[in-house]
Amino acid sequence: MLPYGRQSIDDDDIAAVVETLRGDWLTIGPQVAAFEKDLEAWTDGVGVAVVSNGTAALHTAYAAAGIRPGDEVVTSPMTFVATASTAIAQGATVVFADTEDDTANLDPAAAQAAVTGRTKVIAAIDYAGHPAEYDELRKVADNAGALLLADAAHAIGSTYRGRAVGSLADLTTFSFFPTKNLTTAEGGAVAALDPVILDRARKFRSIGMVREQDRLRHPDVGGWHQEVHEFGLNYRLPDVLCALGRSQLKRLGGFKSRRTELVARYHELLADVPGLRLPVQRAWVDPAWHLYPVRVLDGRRREVFDRMRAAGIGVQVNYIPVYWHPVFEDLGYRRGMCPNAERFYAEELSLPLFPALTDADQDRVVAALHEILG
Ligand SMILES: *Cc1c(COP(=O)(O)O)cnc(C)c1O
Repeated sequence: MLPYGRQSIDDDDIAAVVETLRGDWLTIGPQVAAFEKDLEAWTDGVGVAVVSNGTAALHTAYAAAGIRPGDEVVTSPMTFVATASTAIAQGATVVFADTEDDTANLDPAAAQAAVTGRTKVIAAIDYAGHPAEYDELRKVADNAGALLLADAAHAIGSTYRGRAVGSLADLTTFSFFPTKNLTTAEGGAVAALDPVILDRARKFRSIGMVREQDRLRHPDVGGWHQEVHEFGLNYRLPDVLCALGRSQLKRLGGFKSRRTELVARYHELLADVPGLRLPVQRAWVDPAWHLYPVRVLDGRRREVFDRMRAAGIGVQVNYIPVYWHPVFEDLGYRRGMCPNAERFYAEELSLPLFPALTDADQDRVVAALHEILG
C-alpha cells in the first residue's frame, strides 16, 4: 500500500542516532539544548522547548499559558483531537468556532464571535501546512485579552507574510511524528515568544522540578536538593531522538522543496478531474505542505476512498470534526455547530504526499482518480 505520509530516514540520520547511543547521555544531555537551538533557525529565533510528542506539546503549551478550570479555549474542530483534548485535560472548556470554507483554517470572524470574558487561549491550526490568518487572529486574541496559540503540527517550515511559523503566535506547537514534515519517531516542541512562558513550559515537561540555586525556596539544604513548585509531567525528549531531529532539520529545506514540487504537480495533473476541488493557497503564505487535501464532491468521498484503498493507494481523511468524537458528544456537544468544518469533513480526502514519493507513484494516484471520477 502506498502510504499517505511517510518518514524519510537516510544514513546520516542513522549515524547521528548511533553516535548518541554510544555516548554518555541517552536523555537529559547536550543534544536537547542543541536541538532546541537548531529549531530556532526555523522559528525566526523564537525560543523552543522540545517535548515527547505533539500532544505533549499542546498540553505543555496550555499549562504554560496558565489554563485552569473555568477558562475557555476557542479552537477549530478541523484538527486532530489533541488540540482540544489537552485543553480539557487542563480543566478548560473548549468552544469550537467554524473554519474558512476554502482553507479549512479557523475563521477569525467565527473566533471573534466565540470569545467570552473567560477566553484565555485562541488556538489556530495550520491545516495541511497552510498557515492560519495570524494578523486577524492576533487582533481577536488581543481584544479578548487571550493568548494566541498555533497548533503547527503540520507546518514547521511554513511562512506567513515572510514570517516563520513559530514566531506568529504567543505559543506554537510542533509534532515530529513520522508522517509530519520532519520526524524524531515520537517528538514535539513548544515555541514561546515570552521567555517566562517558555521557562514554564520547560518546567512542566520536567515534572516541575526546580534546580536553580537562586530559585529554591529552601536554598541551604545541600547540593542534592531540588524542589517542585508547580506540578508537571515527564514529557522529555531523549538525546537519542534529539540527535535524529538535528539531522532531520538539516534536510527540512529539501523536504519542503520536494513537497512543494509534488503539490504543484498534483495541481496541474488533477486540474481537469470532474467533481474534485483542489486545495487553495493565499498569496501571502509559503506553506511546507504536510497534506494534499482534495475535496470529493457529489457525495462520492466514501466511494473514492474505498476504491483508492482497493487500488493500493493509502488515502486518508483528515479529520473527523473533533466534537463528533463520542467523548465530546457525551459532554453535550452537538453536530451542526460548525457547518463549514462538517462539510469539509464530508468531502475531504488526503492524497499521498511525502518527500520520497516519486513522480511515477504520483502518476499512479492521479490515474486512479481519473479512472474513478473521469
Ligand atoms: C499530529 C498532530 C498532533 C499530535 O501530535 P503527536 O505527535 O501525534 O502527538 C496534534 N495536532 C495536529 C494538528 C496534528 O496533526
